[in-house]
Amino acid sequence: MSQIKKLTAIGRKLEKLSARYSRLEWVQYTTGYDLGSQKAYQKMVKVFKDKKNYQAILDHKAMDLEPLDKRRAEILYKAFKPYHLSDELNKLELEIQKLATELSQVLNNHRSSLDGREIRSTEIAQILRSEPDRENRKKAYLARAQVNQPLFEAGFAELIGLRKEYARLYGAKNFVAYQLEQQELDVNMFDSWPEQIAKLLPAMKKIKAEFGEKFIGDSAVKPWDDAYISAQLAPELNRRVDMSTCNEVVRDFFLNFGWDITKYNITYDIFPRRNKSEWGYNFSIQTAVDSRILANVENRYHEYGVLLHETGHALHSFLLKPREVLLNMGGSGIISEGFANLFQDFLYEESFFKQFFGDQQAQAAENFAHLKRWERATRLEAVPAIMFDQALYRENIKTIDDVHHLYWKIYRQILGEEPYSGEPPWGFRIHHTTHPIYLHNYFMGDLTCDMLREVFKKRHKTNDIMAQAKKFGKFLLDEVIKPSGTYTYPELYQRVSGEEFSLKYLAE
Ligand SMILES: [Zn+2]
Repeated sequence: MSQIKKLTAIGRKLEKLSARYSRLEWVQYTTGYDLGSQKAYQKMVKVFKDKKNYQAILDHKAMDLEPLDKRRAEILYKAFKPYHLSDELNKLELEIQKLATELSQVLNNHRSSLDGREIRSTEIAQILRSEPDRENRKKAYLARAQVNQPLFEAGFAELIGLRKEYARLYGAKNFVAYQLEQQELDVNMFDSWPEQIAKLLPAMKKIKAEFGEKFIGDSAVKPWDDAYISAQLAPELNRRVDMSTCNEVVRDFFLNFGWDITKYNITYDIFPRRNKSEWGYNFSIQTAVDSRILANVENRYHEYGVLLHETGHALHSFLLKPREVLLNMGGSGIISEGFANLFQDFLYEESFFKQFFGDQQAQAAENFAHLKRWERATRLEAVPAIMFDQALYRENIKTIDDVHHLYWKIYRQILGEEPYSGEPPWGFRIHHTTHPIYLHNYFMGDLTCDMLREVFKKRHKTNDIMAQAKKFGKFLLDEVIKPSGTYTYPELYQRVSGEEFSLKYLAE
C-alpha cells in the first residue's frame, strides 16, 4: 500500500468533494432547490484537472507496482486522463454538466396532464397497472411523451451535440465508444445483440400473445398493456400494504442473509412531495459512510421492489471497505445494478411475500410464478431503449422529428414491430439526459443476477436460495463485493461463471 500513498491521498480528497457534491444533489432531487451543486462539482473537477495530481499518477503508472496497486493506479489514471488531453475538452465537460443539470431540472419539475388535470408519473404508472379501459391506458401511457417537447426545447439536441464533440476531440470513434471505454466494456459487445435477440424473439412473442389473449382478449400486446397484464397476472402487486412499517420489513428481510442494515447510516426519503424527483435512487454519498434512498411510495406492495432494490445499492456500499478508496472507484455499474436486482427479485418469492397475503399465499405463489414467466418474455423490451440511447450519438439529430424517426427505426429493428403512435415517450427516461449509455447496466445487471443465482445453486446443490440465505450472503460477499473494483466487469463475470457474458440467460 505504501507505494501508492500519494495516490490514495488524491482518492481521499476526491471522495470528500464528491460527498459534498452528492449531498447537494440529494437536496436538489428531494426538494427542487439548487444550493450550489455546480460549484461543488467544479471543485471536484479542479482536483481532476490539477497537473501535479496527474503527474503523480503517471509517475506511479511507470513504476513496478504490485498487481493490486497497479490496478489502483490504473483506475485513477482512467478517471483523470480525460481532463489532461486539452483545455477544450475541460471546457466542454463543464458545459455538458451544466446543460445536463438544467435539463434534469426540466424533467424533475415537469408534470404531465391528462384530461386537463396535472398528473404525477407515479399516477400514470398506477393507471397503466389498474385501468381496464385500454384507450384510457393508451392515453396515460402517451402522456409520458409530453415532456419530450419541453426537454427538446431546453436543449436536448445541443446536449447530444456537445457529447459528440467531446468524443471527437477525445479521439474516440464516437461517444458510445468513449463511454464504454470509461466503463471498461468492450466497444463491440453490442454488435451481436440484434442477432442474438432475433433468435429469441419468436419464443418471446408466443408467450406474449398467449397472455394477451387471456387477459386483454388480443394477442397483439401494446406497451400500455404490459403493466396491466402484469397486474392481472398478480393482483398482489397492487395490493394495499401499510408502508409505515416498511423499515422493519426491509430490515428483517436483509437479516436473513446475515446483514443488519440498521447498523448502517442509510437515510430513507420515500413519500411523494411537490418538486421532488419522482423516481427511485440511492445516493451513495460516501462509500460505507452515508447512503440515502429516494423513493415515492403510495402504499402498494410492488413498491417494496423499489425499496429492496435501493436498499441493495446502499448495502453494497456499506459492504465495501472504506479504506479501499481507489478500488471502490473502479466498481462496475452492472455489478452494482445486478446486486440491487437480486434483492428486488425477492418481491416474487414466498420468503418475502409470505408476510403480506395472509391465507391467500398459495394463490400468490401461483400468480407470481406466472408473472415471472411473463416478465422473462417481456425482458427484451428493454433493449430498444438501450439501442436508441446509443443511436442518438451515431445519427444526426437536428429536430425533434429526427429523434422520433430514430426511435421508431430502432423499435422496428429490434422488436420487429410498427410504431404505435406519432410521438413515442422517450424524454421521460432521465438516463438519456443525465446518464447516457448507462441503460445496459440494468439489463446486463439482470442477466448477471440470473448468472449469480444459477452458479450459487449449482455450487451448493440446491434449488432454494432462501434455505441457505446466510451462505448466499457470504457467496455474494466473497465472489462479488470483495473482488469488485479489482476486476473489470467482463473479468468478474468470467471469474464467477467460468464463461463469457452473453444473452443466454434470456432464454427460458
Ligand atoms: Zn439501481
